[in-house]
Amino acid sequence: MAMTVGILGGGQLARMLVLAGAPLGVRFVVVDSAEDACAGQVAPLVRADWRDFAALEKFAQDIDVATFDFENVPAETAQWLTARTRVFPNPRALAIAQDRLAEKTLFGECGLGTPAFAAVDTREDLDVALREVGAPAILKTRRLGYDGKGQFRLKSTHDADAAWAALGGNAHGLILEAFVTFECEVSVIAVRAPNGDFRTWPLTRNWHADGILSASLAPAHVDDAIARAAFAHARTIAEKLDYVGVFALELFVHEDAVHGKELLGNEMAPRVHNSGHWTIEGAVTSQFENHVRAVLGLPLGYTAAIGRSCMLNWIGELPDANAILRESGAHWHDYGKSPRAGRKVGHATIRARDDATLADTLQRIGNALGRQAQVQAVIDALHARAA
Ligand code: AMP
Repeated sequence: MAMTVGILGGGQLARMLVLAGAPLGVRFVVVDSAEDACAGQVAPLVRADWRDFAALEKFAQDIDVATFDFENVPAETAQWLTARTRVFPNPRALAIAQDRLAEKTLFGECGLGTPAFAAVDTREDLDVALREVGAPAILKTRRLGYDGKGQFRLKSTHDADAAWAALGGNAHGLILEAFVTFECEVSVIAVRAPNGDFRTWPLTRNWHADGILSASLAPAHVDDAIARAAFAHARTIAEKLDYVGVFALELFVHEDAVHGKELLGNEMAPRVHNSGHWTIEGAVTSQFENHVRAVLGLPLGYTAAIGRSCMLNWIGELPDANAILRESGAHWHDYGKSPRAGRKVGHATIRARDDATLADTLQRIGNALGRQAQVQAVIDALHARAA
């Protein structure tokens, strides 16, 4: 095939894209400013920052298409690249997904509800927004926030000064969102090809700790109507953005007396996503392979699940690999990164033929690693669906 995909950003997502594309005969070049970017262990690495246009010019000549492992590549850089090579997803989709305010506005235009929100640029705006949105609420930076960073939770209006002290004056502005007491968090991992072919993997249920994804379970056990609505929202958004490639749509499942059970849009990630890592072993075609296929205009692969899968994230440092490797159906992923607090350094996917086997395996792994807290919510969800 001898086609070359250029990836802006050289983290674990780029690394897994490379590993998925290699069997197809696809070559890769990765751009990252960090010398030790972990995708550089599996593909040629161009060391450059996002405004090093001399290096990017050469990069663009060497590739057939550019894509991203990192959504905060400046939209101007993405736009600049479109004059030199194909860029998927397109810079407009990237720009919208980079800005929480634009993203939530888009969700509304696509008929997807969101937590109540208001833009905040000044201290006075925060008071107005708190009156509009109510408390508890979360103040977030509009841009460059991820994994719970750039967020401040307000229990009541008395926390306004502290919230402003923490985030006020951010150059890109802020957004205040109502705090949703959700039943669960789910994500749609979806892929769209240049010819409009659109596919979703089974819905994934997610658990976060300290704002960082901790565990995912797929297929999630939610009402069929909720799953169908989630897929329909993802499709509407993808078509509106003329999106090409894989993206994730993160949703809260919320229930109250007024609205019944409903989906609220939290955010979209314009790239392969942590909550889709289970698809490497848990689906016929992984999110990584289908992203490579989509950006190259190849036919998309089948997205059905194989059995039940749970993905456990390793944050900060890796636990003992043997506790995973000795389990049948369990798969170990070490991203080749050095340990650092809050850093995603690896994950494991445990695949089983049924819920009971998956719950038993998770229990053994939780006990062996002393990580009962990480697995317990997943085990509870598996038992709840057996009941
Ligand atoms: P985010 O970076 O916006 O995805 O936030 C990280 C995590 O914080 C989410 O996955 C939720 O668990 C939680 N969170 C974010 N926004 C809200 C909200 N409006 N209401 C309740 N929880 C939230």
